Amino acid sequence: MDITISGDQRAIEESVGRLCAQFDDAYWSGCDAAARFPHEFHRAMAEGGWLGITMPVELGGAGLGVTEAAIMMHTVTQHGGGFSAASTIHINLFGPHPIVVHSTPEQKARWLTPLIKGEEKACFGVTEPDAGLDTTSISTFATRVKGGYRVKGRKMWTTTAQEADRILLLTRTTPKADCRKPTDGMTLFYTALDRSKVEVRRIEKMGRSAVDSNAVFIDDLFVPDEDRIGEEGRGFRYLLDGLNPERILIACEAIGIGRDALRRASDYARERHVFGRPIGQNQGIQHPLAENWAYLESAFWMAMRAAHLYDTKKPCGAEANAAKFLGARAAFDACTRSVMTHGGMGYAKEFQVERLFRESILTRIAPVTEQLILSFIAENVLGLPKSY
Ligand SMILES: Cc1cc2nc3c(=O)[nH]c(=O)nc-3n(C[C@H](O)[C@H](O)[C@H](O)COP(=O)(O)OP(=O)(O)OC[C@H]3O[C@@H](n4cnc5c(N)ncnc54)[C@H](O)[C@@H]3O)c2cc1C
Repeated sequence: MDITISGDQRAIEESVGRLCAQFDDAYWSGCDAAARFPHEFHRAMAEGGWLGITMPVELGGAGLGVTEAAIMMHTVTQHGGGFSAASTIHINLFGPHPIVVHSTPEQKARWLTPLIKGEEKACFGVTEPDAGLDTTSISTFATRVKGGYRVKGRKMWTTTAQEADRILLLTRTTPKADCRKPTDGMTLFYTALDRSKVEVRRIEKMGRSAVDSNAVFIDDLFVPDEDRIGEEGRGFRYLLDGLNPERILIACEAIGIGRDALRRASDYARERHVFGRPIGQNQGIQHPLAENWAYLESAFWMAMRAAHLYDTKKPCGAEANAAKFLGARAAFDACTRSVMTHGGMGYAKEFQVERLFRESILTRIAPVTEQLILSFIAENVLGLPKSY
């Protein structure tokens, strides 16, 4: 058993860390306050070649695994940009996984190359207002017509749809009632976000304001056959392939946010003197921070174990879900404690930790909630009856 970060992986941390250090707190709090997409950061990551870390080598990617991608995202979120930095580039890593696995060589070249170069941006349209977590109940429908499909429906929370050139779009092509299994009859497309047929309405939200999330209204959008991924009716199965890597990435993104908040809390606790001594000398201040470190560290190694299982093609559903659960909780707790450690200044924007706190709760909700993760573990690990 070798549970260490390798030399090559350390090199990723150092290189990505150097790049992220160019974007300071003022940059990230400015993007957050103005709800402005971090274009400069996106461009720098593209120019550094990082947007293709998991993409095929023959298309200009690095062909590395989820372990390296998770290490990269853990580094990204530790440098002050938090979930805004992560969400600027997250879709590039495993969002296009169904394309990598199930599309034709022509589609891969057409779609992945501009994503890797940072020339195009994508968004991910799965969640719908009336279906929620019950994804098989989506109602966005793609009707067959000559040469392709006509799509009508609504998506909810679609992140980066203000910026995106293309959308990875899950639709029904057969009504659920007519399918043998609820997961049948869904089809996945990757297609141009034609704004004459798609209205994108920004949602005002609690945090991560630099990266937009939207209500999306699709009215009679024509999608040509060549923009369908794989076979008609199998889209849900294609999406499932990418779920475990996504949980692992979110876990590490969350843990990085928690580590940043913990570093800021420790710095403050060393420097802030009250009653004639540093506040960090009080065990009431230092024990909760030490506890945060322990939870973050254990969540990180659960994520690394899940990543290793995935990269060595072994089942990793339980570990990936546990990593996402533990990572998000540990991050939220560390951010909360960081605000409290700063006392009143924790509430001031100047110290950044309120921004990290607002972002950290999102890692508990998206892309899947804690309840659904626990239901998965209860059913698949503990053998309890399915509850949903
Ligand atoms: C900022 C942000 C960005 C997002 N970006 C994207 C994106 O880019 N693309 C995309 O497709 N989606 C995106 N999402 C959507 C996100 O994945 C969903 O919000 C999330 O999966 C939860 O779904 P819901 O909001 O519909 O909750 P609901 O399904 O309405 O659930 C509400 C609550 O009830 C609980 N619940 C529901 N059913 C059960 C059950 N059977 N047992 C126990 N508890 C249950 C849930 O856990 C949750 O706590 C984003 C969300 C946010 C907030």
